[in-house]
Amino acid sequence: MKAVAIDGPAGAGKSTIAKQAAERLGYIYVDTGALYRAIGLYVSQRGADPAGEEEVAPLLKDIRLELVLTEEGQRVLLNGEDVSRRIRTPEAALNASRVAALPAVRAFLLELQRGIAERSPVVMDGRDIGTVVLPEAEVKIFLTAAPEERARRRLLEHQQRGEQADYQTLLEEIKARDHADSTRAIAPLRQAEDAVLLDTTHLTPEEAIQAVLNLVKRGG
Ligand code: C5P
Repeated sequence: MKAVAIDGPAGAGKSTIAKQAAERLGYIYVDTGALYRAIGLYVSQRGADPAGEEEVAPLLKDIRLELVLTEEGQRVLLNGEDVSRRIRTPEAALNASRVAALPAVRAFLLELQRGIAERSPVVMDGRDIGTVVLPEAEVKIFLTAAPEERARRRLLEHQQRGEQADYQTLLEEIKARDHADSTRAIAPLRQAEDAVLLDTTHLTPEEAIQAVLNLVKRGG
């Protein structure tokens, strides 16, 4: 299957690297975290508990998610509405992590993600792409970096958007989310046996992109 699966913890550089690699390969970039974030947003807008399967499951049939490519880059549409910015808050990340632990949500998105990969070559990033969503991907990469470096990168992103942020708080959020994502019962974050480990702590984004492109050239 013409697909590149990139998994790893928050802040390892997945989206920057996956987006660029996709562009240079002529593949579609799929940010699966954005899909979980959009579901988390919808559930909280409806006043439901994001950790409650009985409350969340019946809402899924009312959710239509689309990833569309525009001049401003990829946008996430939730029932036709562009929520790309609203899903980038720390609260949205936390809600995403909560709904992501629910089997009904994972089953719902599994179908959507596989459907996209069947239609076009993809670079897909997430937590369980190489292990669960696309086990047949031609290249699997587990992208990671030290938590302190990931918090530093997140801080820079916030500062570039002109937002207030605190390093210690970001570091704690990253560690808490890593823990929740790695220890959940269903589709936990872990490196697939046939995935290549790529540690970006001491790599520039361009070096990491080149490493990914080299792996694709080699065929994994
Ligand atoms: O990658 P991002 O930080 O946007 O992901 C938000 C949350 O969505 C993650 O913390 C994780 O709980 C969940 N997620 C997941 N599986 C994926 C992608 C994201 O469980 N494939």
